[in-house]
Amino acid sequence: MSKFVLIGSGLAGGLLAAYLGRRGYEVDLYERRADPREGNIVGGRSINLAISTRGIHALEQIGIAKEALQHAIPMRGRMIHDKGGELHFSPYDVDPKKCINSIGRAALNSTVIEAAQRYSNVRVHFNHKCIGVDIDSAVAHLETVNGTVTARGDAVIGVDGAFSAVRKSMQNAIAKFQYDESYLAHGYKELTIPPGPDGSWQMEKNALHIWPRKSFMMIALPNPDRSFTCTLFWEFEGPRSFATTKTDDEVRRFFEEEFPDAVPFMPNLLDDFRNNPTGSLVTVRCAPWFYRDKVCLVGDAAHAVVPFYGQGMNAAFEDCVVLDECLEQFPENCERTFTEYFRRRKENADSLADLAIGNFIEMRDKTASRTFRAKKKLDHALEAALPGKYLPLYTMVTFTRMPYARAAKRARIQDSLVYASLFLIASVLIAAMLWLFAT
Ligand SMILES: Cc1cc2nc3c(=O)[nH]c(=O)nc-3n(C[C@H](O)[C@H](O)[C@H](O)COP(=O)(O)OP(=O)(O)OC[C@H]3O[C@@H](n4cnc5c(N)ncnc54)[C@H](O)[C@@H]3O)c2cc1C
Repeated sequence: MSKFVLIGSGLAGGLLAAYLGRRGYEVDLYERRADPREGNIVGGRSINLAISTRGIHALEQIGIAKEALQHAIPMRGRMIHDKGGELHFSPYDVDPKKCINSIGRAALNSTVIEAAQRYSNVRVHFNHKCIGVDIDSAVAHLETVNGTVTARGDAVIGVDGAFSAVRKSMQNAIAKFQYDESYLAHGYKELTIPPGPDGSWQMEKNALHIWPRKSFMMIALPNPDRSFTCTLFWEFEGPRSFATTKTDDEVRRFFEEEFPDAVPFMPNLLDDFRNNPTGSLVTVRCAPWFYRDKVCLVGDAAHAVVPFYGQGMNAAFEDCVVLDECLEQFPENCERTFTEYFRRRKENADSLADLAIGNFIEMRDKTASRTFRAKKKLDHALEAALPGKYLPLYTMVTFTRMPYARAAKRARIQDSLVYASLFLIASVLIAAMLWLFAT
């Protein structure tokens, strides 16, 4: 194996090209869009993302974490905004140094592409849209302004996101290819809280802000220019939804009712709401992620998840690390490499997909409740009392590199033990009180 054709130079594509370049492979990376460094960043995708331990580890392994994180903003916990405008801060971890980081998608994309281009054996071709792959011969067909061209490699890797053209070619050619995509009933729209008139932050900058409203929510992440990017996650259809809220009056009324403390900070609300696209939220599960030694899928192309655990990109970066480890283990056998990569990642990607959907319900509904805050305090108290033994699920997913499936399983066991202990303590207390009253 000496030459890889990569399709898609998004977040994972750039990083994977750098990893492959470092191993000395010839890499041709094809991206349908123009160079993001020319300011053509994807419209309608999240402007900023939360990067945490797994993603940072992947950047560290290739030596670009410092460069990538230089403008990132640490977020130490959730800042919950209730309807009355009251704020409740809930730290992410018992250790105040543990935080997730808000990072700009465009800057991160440029950083990984530049990292790849430092290797002379990596070539990046923008404005090349993949329209199909011959999976038996590892040939990709690409549309350019000058017509169609082909790219031939020893293997083609699809890093082309949730609506992957490479995956589509596998689906068409492999009889038993398993494929499932499911959409949430909610869509999302990005809005902006600009800096204040004096250029200052309008809200706490070191927090991820959440306005939980049971069936829907808005969140906001800070940007280096002191603005916040807000994302409204809301039903597409229904009596109160994107579908029924169209006019400026309807939009203003909805925001004043639901997010009254945010409205004064959003002078461009109506323009943003009208002009910004409404995105959909998809979960993609498929198998296998490879075809012989010829084709492989990485990142969202293999396993798109909804964004509520802030892990899609982190998981995509972790894929790159695992694929690199498998290449190291089986340098002479690409099919073995792809098989092992798939074996190590698939159950974890499936687990993350479930966790991400579960966290939507937690964020939009439970974070507002006292019970949720009490559970978080209990989690942190147990973590402090039993260091290394009790780890809250959020901590395992976000601040460790424990495989997602193992983290989910361990959290289920921990929860059962905690609930059983609480039940036992409550039973003993009730029995003691009954005994006291009886004597
Ligand atoms: C609203 C929202 C918020 C999110 N927040 C977070 C977060 O906080 N933390 C987190 O970890 N993740 C988050 N994610 C998930 C994250 O965006 C994705 O998991 C991540 O972008 C996956 O990287 P990727 O490289 O696999 O795919 P992408 O970033 O989608 O890149 C795919 C690339 O392939 C290119 N491409 C597509 N088709 C073709 C083609 N036919 N030919 C050539 N090129 C093609 C695209 O132009 C793109 O450049 C969020 C997602 C959304 C939608």
